[in-house]
Amino acid sequence: MSVGTMHVTEREKELAAIIAAYNEVTDQLKRAHDNLGQEVRHLREELARKNAELRRRERLAALGEMAAGVAHEIRNPLSGIRLFASLLRRDLQDRPAELGTVAKISKCVNVLEEIVSDILHFGRPTTPNPAPVRLEAVVRQAVELAASRMQEAAVRFEVGDEVNGFELVTDAALLERALTNLLVNAAEASVPVGVAGGGARVWVRADRNTTDRVAVRVEDNGPGIPPELMDRIFNPFFTTKDNGTGLGLAIVHQIAETLGGSVRAANRAGGGAVFTLLIPARYEESPAGSEEFALGQSREEVL
Ligand code: ADP
Repeated sequence: MSVGTMHVTEREKELAAIIAAYNEVTDQLKRAHDNLGQEVRHLREELARKNAELRRRERLAALGEMAAGVAHEIRNPLSGIRLFASLLRRDLQDRPAELGTVAKISKCVNVLEEIVSDILHFGRPTTPNPAPVRLEAVVRQAVELAASRMQEAAVRFEVGDEVNGFELVTDAALLERALTNLLVNAAEASVPVGVAGGGARVWVRADRNTTDRVAVRVEDNGPGIPPELMDRIFNPFFTTKDNGTGLGLAIVHQIAETLGGSVRAANRAGGGAVFTLLIPARYEESPAGSEEFALGQSREEVL
């Protein structure tokens, strides 16, 4: 009997070993299956993301084309109004009341011309013109422009010392335009808050995101961006301002991509907004496009 029992026990052991091996293989297969399932889900999401971005680009291109067409049509009569206003100004030199009205017409023409220029800029694909440039020079120029656009509003612009250290090869004019838009927005957002206390403040800071990318941040002490609007602020023509065009950030987004980089919006822990422009330190002919911030929520939204 005991021999038979031993025999059974050994067989049982063998069987147990086989079952254990079988379970092991099954577990491995299950893990492989789960991993594959996860990979497929990930790829599906990636595909959906790319498709959404593609649709967004197509819509933007169509919108840009249409807007540029309208802007072109507006540009000529606008130059006519500007010309007639200047003729009137000449003829009305001795009539101050009427001269005041002409000045108002000219001011409105300026505003319209800025809008038309924004629309044309937005609608036109740009090929960068890269050259060596010091980041600090571009930032200073943008700050000067933004400050002049803010006119009498008292805004303190502060440029971090570290901005001095960056030498880039990029399109300085495009970068300046993007930074100016961010600075004007930051200043506009911080003025009402600044009036309430502490003064309106805007900071520009920079750091090397990776060895070949530079992050330029524009921060303000305004109210920040309401979370429910985060998804929409980069969309062309989205604005919460009475006299806004909603093109400022769309242009920044377009420029960031043109320079091979990206832009991201967030709120600062201590209040206010922070926009981070991430661009290659050296622009390359066919940049692979940046995926660091790519398709973040605020950019993914399809019009
Ligand atoms: P516009 O300035 O003509 O409104 P933009 O595209 O530049 O157009 O900005 C879109 C919207 O994003 C603004 O109307 C505002 O609601 C929001 N926004 C932009 N910058 C800031 C900021 N620094 N702080 C808070 N909100 C901002």
